[in-house]
Amino acid sequence: MKNFNPADNIQDLQYFGEFGGVNPSISDSSTYTFLSAKTMFDTFEGNMEGCYLYSRHSSPSNLYLDKAMAAMEGTETANVSASGMGAITPTLLQLCGSGDHIVSSRTIYGGTYAFLKNFTPRLGIKTTFVDITKLDVVEAAITPQTKVLYCETVSNPLLEVANIEGLAKIAEKHNLKLVVDNTFSPLSVSPAKLGADIVIHSLTKYINGSSDTVGGVTCASQEFIDSLKNVNSGASMLLGPTMDSLRSASVMKNLRTLHIRMKQHSHNAMYLAERFEKDGLKTVYPGLKSHPSHELYSGMINHEYGFGGMMTLDVETLAKANALMELMQAKNLGYLAVSLGFYKTLFSAPGTSTSSEIPMEEQIEMGLTDGLIRFSIGLDNDIERTYHMMKQCMQELNILASESILTK
Ligand SMILES: *Cc1c(COP(=O)(O)O)cnc(C)c1O
Repeated sequence: MKNFNPADNIQDLQYFGEFGGVNPSISDSSTYTFLSAKTMFDTFEGNMEGCYLYSRHSSPSNLYLDKAMAAMEGTETANVSASGMGAITPTLLQLCGSGDHIVSSRTIYGGTYAFLKNFTPRLGIKTTFVDITKLDVVEAAITPQTKVLYCETVSNPLLEVANIEGLAKIAEKHNLKLVVDNTFSPLSVSPAKLGADIVIHSLTKYINGSSDTVGGVTCASQEFIDSLKNVNSGASMLLGPTMDSLRSASVMKNLRTLHIRMKQHSHNAMYLAERFEKDGLKTVYPGLKSHPSHELYSGMINHEYGFGGMMTLDVETLAKANALMELMQAKNLGYLAVSLGFYKTLFSAPGTSTSSEIPMEEQIEMGLTDGLIRFSIGLDNDIERTYHMMKQCMQELNILASESILTK
């Protein structure tokens, strides 16, 4: 673990372009020629290294990004996909069929939650949603039909931290696959090194980092990725959520600066979280000592990349949250938008947006309040300046008391 540094692994990748370009050539073909018919047969059977068949299966550009993602997560290999959901859904469908059962964290991305709650029951797959921070509750939910334990390293939007080592022990004991969505914490956490079997990312977020495309990846063993891509039975091959080569080439270039960006996102989020907590706002950030998982998370992260760029503030009512977000956008502090990992700050009220798939009573039970604003903190150069501007917005809306009436 100590010697594993995901950014070094990315740096050490050396890909030359076809003509000696410093960036690898982008493959621009959907299909590939064979010099002999026998090679085509062997490729279909999955027996030929280095031969391409058809770009829904793989393409040179996608394989470069696959290799980079595997290097980052420390898995044997990986498979990129057209979106994060395009990685999550085939992975779960490859692992589970009719009659099977999944134990999942209840605080997961809204789309994943909707898939498990509303869609997979149509295929005979049942899911029990649990508080993933309670290992005894997780274990108690396991049945003889359970095949998968599913969680996010840091969950959306409440930033609960999953004890991946603890979950991996439970998964091993019951012969389950532990699938971890690591979208919120690239580089900071390396779930496979903590015992996860399969690590998933939405590349749409930090890894691409410029909010100009969607993308996803499944990082796993060669055996599992081969099964996903199998021409006769692979969920990725047959459902077809293939990433386009042009996109994988552009994601690959953005990946090269991920370590610098993550450090800045984390630095800025930590600064704002500390200041706003001190100002008396209900602040959730895993880097704060007040966070229930602070100790656990401190023991899990590669510290140089910090505690990440996601933070929530609770301003008590939806009306105040909406007014604050509109004002902050008007003052050019960021955008009122879903998603995360952009160079500018993004904010949204999860209860009415990204987590609206979750029924109201469940939102209340998990502490997802009306006035909660989720921030994806941007790469602002001078975060102190940003803090003062944000604070001014809060004072204008009486979310924070004005300086003059504060007792010094
Ligand atoms: C955005 C997101 C997804 C879905 O990814 P898409 O690229 O939008 O399909 C999955 N998990 C998490 C944690 C996300 O934030």
